[in-house]
Amino acid sequence: MRAFWAHVFGPSGGPRSVVAALGVVEWWATLRRGRPSSGNGHDTARPASITVSLRPKATLGMFAVCSVLHWIDKELQRLALQGLLRSRRIRTGPQGACCKIEGKRVINFGSNDYLGLAGDHRLAAAARAALRREGTGSGASPLVSGYSRYHRLLERKLAAFEATEAALVCVSGYAANVGTVAALVGPGDLVLSDAHNHASLLDGCRLSRADVRVYPHCDMAALERLLQRAVGYRRRLIVTDTLFSMDGDLAPLPELADLAERYQAMLLVDEAHATGVFGQHGRGLVEFFGLEDRVPVRVGTLSKALGCAGGFVVGSQVLVDWLVNRARTYIFSTAMPPPIAAAAAAAISIVRSEPHRRRQLLQRAELLREQLRRMGWDIGRSASQIIPLVVGTPQRATVLAAQLFLRGVFVPAIRPPAVPEGQSCLRISLTAAHSDDHIAQLIDALAAAG
Ligand code: PLP
Repeated sequence: MRAFWAHVFGPSGGPRSVVAALGVVEWWATLRRGRPSSGNGHDTARPASITVSLRPKATLGMFAVCSVLHWIDKELQRLALQGLLRSRRIRTGPQGACCKIEGKRVINFGSNDYLGLAGDHRLAAAARAALRREGTGSGASPLVSGYSRYHRLLERKLAAFEATEAALVCVSGYAANVGTVAALVGPGDLVLSDAHNHASLLDGCRLSRADVRVYPHCDMAALERLLQRAVGYRRRLIVTDTLFSMDGDLAPLPELADLAERYQAMLLVDEAHATGVFGQHGRGLVEFFGLEDRVPVRVGTLSKALGCAGGFVVGSQVLVDWLVNRARTYIFSTAMPPPIAAAAAAAISIVRSEPHRRRQLLQRAELLREQLRRMGWDIGRSASQIIPLVVGTPQRATVLAAQLFLRGVFVPAIRPPAVPEGQSCLRISLTAAHSDDHIAQLIDALAAAG
């Protein structure tokens, strides 16, 4: 421990760098959370590994655990020095344009609650009604006894909303992606994946044990070259986010559909950040580009614009029947709690009946992007409600986020591995709940900090 502080602050005790010190502050905050509960709820956010290494009155067995996990402390110190250590902050109250984070009231640009539905009373009422009838937990996986009438209703509503034959509801968007990719391909198959795809698509590729080729972000010429060389494979699958979660840019879906058809590859798209936001009916970017008949596998989440939790896959009945039988993350996990399924069904009704939410959101996002560009911020290729302020190093991102936070504006810093090296950013996530005044306060805080 002493050696660590000496490394950070130098032999004379002066800070080696402000940046390293900031990493240490975050590291120290994490360790403090690891102390025995003070009854304020902090203990719930305690990473188990850190807890073990800090308990002073450990039993003999605990010491044994401590020594085999000793390497973790060193790894955490290394992350702190690189500005890459992460810790959690406690949010109080529902998601919304404003909330309290670690007790401080802030304007919240750090949620994916794009339509402002997470705290909507209609979703809560639907969840309460289901809670009274079915209780909290599903109690089993869907194939055993966990599949309730609420799951069935939600799947029917999703299929109608997305104008597809069938839908499958999973416990998370992560599970939907991992399970679907791994059910569609296996050894002897090839997956072609965009370099900026979400981790869940990547993890699905790994679980599948298919060969995986990553093409440069949105580079259709590179993808075509890979497809030309992909001979001798049983099946080929192209996977892509439609709206990239950190860059806020859009995949070239028409070109992807063309290539998939030309080379007889399956095309799986992840609409996690586009569902509810893009398209005339809010179905996402596949609808926006008019490709609904040309994309056979569409994944989405209920956890972002729909304000709930869970993921889904929509497509043909055959696809859904196959996933029910082969998607491991679906088969081997307890079904989503019925109250969440009921709330998600209510959210779909709102997406359908209140299109002004998405229209207003996208208009405001366009204005904000223009304003940020005029101020000289690098916002990459953002074309959506997700607007990164690319600042380069993790340390710069952390410092800027801290400056904004002090001014009452919360914008999370995003660092590797969530973004490539050199692309650390602040990720502004605009929602329908933000007013012009909230946006003006963000601009003022950026002007003062920048
Ligand atoms: N796909 C993308 C592009 C995401 O950004 C996320 C989550 O952040 C997921 C899938 C996983 O969704 P969920 O949070 O519902 O598990």
